[in-house]
Amino acid sequence: MNILLLGSGGRESAFAWKLTQSPKCENLFIAPGNAGTGQYGTNVDIKVTDFAGIKNFVLANNINMVVVGPEEPLVKGVHDFFLGDEQIKHIPVIGPQAEGAQLEGSKDFSKQFMERHNIPAAASRTFTRETLQEGFEYLPTVGLPVVLKADGLAAGKGVLICLTLEEAQLELTEMLTNAKFGEASSKVVVERFLQGIELSVFVLTDGNNYKVLPSAKDYKRIGEGDTGLNTGGMGSVSPVPFADKEFLDKVEQRIIIPTIEGLKKDNISYKGFIFIGLMNCGGDPYMIEYNCRMGDPETESVLPRIENDLVDLLQAVADGNLNQQELRISNKVAATVVCVAGGYPGEYLKNKVITGMENVRESHVFHAGTSLAGDEVHATGGRVLAITTLQDNMFDALQQATADASRIYYDGVYFRRDIGFDLL
Ligand code: ATP
Repeated sequence: MNILLLGSGGRESAFAWKLTQSPKCENLFIAPGNAGTGQYGTNVDIKVTDFAGIKNFVLANNINMVVVGPEEPLVKGVHDFFLGDEQIKHIPVIGPQAEGAQLEGSKDFSKQFMERHNIPAAASRTFTRETLQEGFEYLPTVGLPVVLKADGLAAGKGVLICLTLEEAQLELTEMLTNAKFGEASSKVVVERFLQGIELSVFVLTDGNNYKVLPSAKDYKRIGEGDTGLNTGGMGSVSPVPFADKEFLDKVEQRIIIPTIEGLKKDNISYKGFIFIGLMNCGGDPYMIEYNCRMGDPETESVLPRIENDLVDLLQAVADGNLNQQELRISNKVAATVVCVAGGYPGEYLKNKVITGMENVRESHVFHAGTSLAGDEVHATGGRVLAITTLQDNMFDALQQATADASRIYYDGVYFRRDIGFDLL
């Protein structure tokens, strides 16, 4: 089978690694990919939102399946584009159509979905420029801190946690009337703050059946001890020790089943991954957000623990018979440490030569923001490499991933040395 994978991050490197372990994957193409994905297949210079370019490539290269990594093409309707075109409508696309992708693309849509299907989540209301005054009246009733969320995609930056009422009023005004996050903040969800520990659970669904993939915890802050600015993710660990069977049963009964059933009731056809961002509040799970794709860097820790042939699982998603697959999850612990560029998440150093990857001993190096310049691998993005290891116990996993990250060098290299140590 010939597979086209869309994306260029660490997540896609992990997908490429896992897909090419399947004997059924004859040729893998990655659009656009990075310096590392070329180890597993052929990089092709097509943007993930260039649907016409994707179609031409799919036809010219006899592609049998398209796997979508990031949210942008899904929210923009790549799956719908395929279904609407006679020449390519038969080719399965893994990832929801635009309507299902709204679970991530619009926080207002996703909050309404949760409410409609009785899925536990923080109380909230949505406001627009026209209803700013009502927003001002609602704010004092929510309690502090209060969470303000731009409705649309804002690259993880559109959520503000305000500690005072004055700050919340100011930010709500900035978002709604001064377009603080552009079009994304033309609607704002005002939400009660949930106190607890965050984790992510991943589901693969064919729209009818589902499989619960391993849970993971990611580390968003740039600084050790979870301090400093938010990033795309500095590391991840799977499994999450506090997500025991009792807790995960609650997640399945209260969140996953109502989500799958809710999609069906709403007539939203959904084939792909659902990322469920949760808060564990005293042993009870509450929804924070849905994403319509896998997380990054959680994918790098989750996929190595899945023992199944990934092509079989995705084919079952396409065929609607995921119930015939038995998921096999390794008992081992996966840890991922992300090496970022100096300065990230602010203005960061670019085009630095990466050395030392051959010295990595116990881990797999998944490339993220890298590119090839002749024989050299350059750090070109904010998140540069994801170093993942799979070990028998949590301590060894954390220790090995951190030790291997320190074997890599480029000017400005930075990684957190405390990823996962809070879980021990
Ligand atoms: P990301 O891209 O980081 O996933 P996002 O922009 O899609 O973020 P959310 O995940 O909804 O937005 O929120 C970002 C972060 O803000 C969450 O990971 C969580 O730490 C925090 N957060 C969001 N909602 C709440 C809440 N109700 N209570 C407490 N913290 C919250």
